Amino acid sequence: MEKIHTGQCGLCSHFGENHKSDVLVTIRTSHEADLKILDECGHPKHSGLHLKVTPISGCDGFVPVAAA
Ligand code: SF4
Repeated sequence: MEKIHTGQCGLCSHFGENHKSDVLVTIRTSHEADLKILDECGHPKHSGLHLKVTPISGCDGFVPVAAA
């Protein structure tokens, strides 16, 4: 498990935003993630491309998840 920081996909509201996932909820509450996890980015500029990212990926489209 690796620590996930603000600005990284694991704490971005677009990470896997089009489906519900207990794994993503756990990442958001613990700020830790298995780096083998891949999920789709739902950002409007990426979703049409079906971009897959890891919890430690990131981009300027980062939107922080609402505090749990
Ligand atoms: S690629 Fe950018 S917009 Fe998509 S989940 Fe990661 S930080 Fe968020």
